[in-house]
Amino acid sequence: MTIGLIPTMGAIHKGHTSLVKEAKSHCDKVVVSIFVNPAQFGENEDLEAYPADEEQDVRALTSVGTDLVFCPSSCEVYPEDFSTVVSVSRLAAGLCGPFRPGHFEGVATVVTKLLLQSLPDIAIFGEKDYQQLLVIRQLVKDLNIPVKVIGAKIIREKDGLAMSTRNQYLSPGDRLIAPELNGILQLVAEWVKAKPGDCESICRLARTKLLEKGFEAVDYITVCDSETLEPLKTYMGNAHVLGAARLGPARLIDNISIRK
Ligand code: AMP
Repeated sequence: MTIGLIPTMGAIHKGHTSLVKEAKSHCDKVVVSIFVNPAQFGENEDLEAYPADEEQDVRALTSVGTDLVFCPSSCEVYPEDFSTVVSVSRLAAGLCGPFRPGHFEGVATVVTKLLLQSLPDIAIFGEKDYQQLLVIRQLVKDLNIPVKVIGAKIIREKDGLAMSTRNQYLSPGDRLIAPELNGILQLVAEWVKAKPGDCESICRLARTKLLEKGFEAVDYITVCDSETLEPLKTYMGNAHVLGAARLGPARLIDNISIRK
């Protein structure tokens, strides 16, 4: 019997249920964990406000064939004398890293625990959190954790907005602006293919355009190597464009692959 694990923070939406469907095509039994991990939230972030409805989550997960939902408590995950941190240096250093100090260490630590507790055959993570996916691949490789990590495609609303729990924070006005993040990433991909040597100036222009559309701040729009996440000056064929921007109380992230 093969087992697949999908770590989540709950507030289950179609992005999450797509991971369950993907897992079911790879293994016999699917386990979903729900844990709002305090260690990955910064001091001024939305830990207290993060939506939680365990009953509804379990209903949504079982309706798509989840076999087991694991909802540990905070003291079960982090007993009082908990002292270990898993830190992935290179991949976590850029992009969201400087804007969310400690975030990837929190993610890496809890995911390491969840993988070792359940020792699944596979674990599925969404490409929506592309940097997170690469950080997890790296830690699994470095720590010889015997689990195959699978990335699953981003599920989007009809207007292109990547589905996310944090979309709930958007006001109706901001919800109309939000898909512009995906729109600009698509434009960057087109522009970069037309002018491969101009990645930096194209990203500068994209940041300005997002501010003009109504985003309050743009943390980054960057063209990066798809494997190392090194920012690129020149596009050579294996790249992603990644972006993070703030809209009202929400911080939205998105990415797309740039193909020749
Ligand atoms: P979260 O509950 O936000 O921590 O997400 C749990 C998992 O679901 C992570 O692997 C995310 O990358 C993935 N995920 C979240 N939103 C989406 C989406 N729109 N499409 C695909 N995967 C997603």
